[in-house]
Amino acid sequence: MSSNPTRDVDHVVIGLGGLGSAAVYWLGRVADDAGRSNPSVVGLEQYELGHDRGASHDHSRIIRRSYHTAGYAALATDAYEAWDAVAAEAGEKIVVRTGGIDLFPANGKVPMHRYTTSMDSVGCPYEVFDAAETMRRYPQFCLDPGTVALYQEDTGIAPAAQGTAAHQRLAAGRGAELHDHEGVEQILSDGAGELTVVTATGTYRTGSVELAADAWTATLLRPLGTELPLEITREQVVYYPSTHLDDYAIGKFPVWIWFDESIYYGFPVYGDLAAVKAAEDVGGLPTTAETRTFDPDHDAEGRLTTFLNGTLPTMVGSTAPRVKTCLYTMTPDRDFVLDTVPGHPGLQVALGSAHGFKFASWFGRTLAERAVLGATTAAIEPFRFDRPGIADPNFVANYRDPASAGTG
Ligand SMILES: Cc1cc2nc3c(=O)[nH]c(=O)nc-3n(C[C@H](O)[C@H](O)[C@H](O)COP(=O)(O)OP(=O)(O)OC[C@H]3O[C@@H](n4cnc5c(N)ncnc54)[C@H](O)[C@@H]3O)c2cc1C
Repeated sequence: MSSNPTRDVDHVVIGLGGLGSAAVYWLGRVADDAGRSNPSVVGLEQYELGHDRGASHDHSRIIRRSYHTAGYAALATDAYEAWDAVAAEAGEKIVVRTGGIDLFPANGKVPMHRYTTSMDSVGCPYEVFDAAETMRRYPQFCLDPGTVALYQEDTGIAPAAQGTAAHQRLAAGRGAELHDHEGVEQILSDGAGELTVVTATGTYRTGSVELAADAWTATLLRPLGTELPLEITREQVVYYPSTHLDDYAIGKFPVWIWFDESIYYGFPVYGDLAAVKAAEDVGGLPTTAETRTFDPDHDAEGRLTTFLNGTLPTMVGSTAPRVKTCLYTMTPDRDFVLDTVPGHPGLQVALGSAHGFKFASWFGRTLAERAVLGATTAAIEPFRFDRPGIADPNFVANYRDPASAGTG
């Protein structure tokens, strides 16, 4: 244990990416909304705020209601609500609704009914277009007959860098301390609610730790005797400097996801105004947070470009695209983790399983409700540590098609 003086604080948040930044904000906000005194909150980040080594950098992430389970479709409503609450306090627009289409080719691997059934269960409106109607509305697409599109008007963009910075700014405005370049070396727990967080320059004693360290999570939990099976992949997004940029503007072009054996997705022009962004879901190679590189994966880029040349032929253009890398951190069932570590009261873990940014503010609020109020009404039962997807060593992961993941 370091020789630094020990500070007693109400809450320590480890990791100030999208989820942790939301937590440092909502810890003050939840206390305030409950008429309680402002808690002392310290957020610890090993790198500079806004860095690009984790999962929450760059301009855009998809936010949507169309999900493969009723549970996520229901939570999505809370995700929008939480972002709207932050936007109201920040006095800035955060979520951009663009409209979105989920595309399902004929005889494809992913059945559309999972999404329509989930949305029906929560009364979420949507429309179904055949290929001709889809191309009439979005002539950028070139689709085979039999391809069907599921249109949902609220689909849009949750801005990664901007949303995270807004949470950080509002948190600091409420008195939270955000320490960058202060990496956590150890989390100690007496198993009865007293937690100690040790860094090279400080020691923090508290009853409440929110661990939002994504790709670094398992490494921090292992010394506490908790094994969390996580798959980390180095993913990439590609910015194509199309010569038809205007055709890909918001209002003319939707957020889109192609669901089949391979899953591709993309955005209208946003953030980087000189290119159109597209990517493959789980197209990256396994890596670790410590050993990952930032080099483009040319095979993956080639797969995506080939797909786009067939489906969005004017997107690619002739100028070389720009590639940005990013880390996916996935549980075997690709469900979130939002739970207290068994045997370590007060230590909560939040993990978005590579689809969590749209829920970042909801994660923050839910962690804060549990830490400040002792309870939450959020439906987090599926995100427990002791579920089969985490606890069963025989669980067969399927990161691309989580609905097909399972035991044996
Ligand atoms: C290419 C790509 C596309 C994606 N697309 C979408 C999408 O369209 N929609 C969506 O909802 N989600 C999407 N996601 C997933 C989403 O971005 C992540 O789930 C989310 O950003 C995770 O946020 P986080 O705060 O948990 O992780 P991170 O942003 O990685 O933050 C973890 C932080 O913890 C810090 N940390 C780790 N260890 C320590 C330590 N010991 N001490 C101090 N600090 C530490 C790290 O430095 C890091 O800043 C995508 C992810 C990628 C990579």
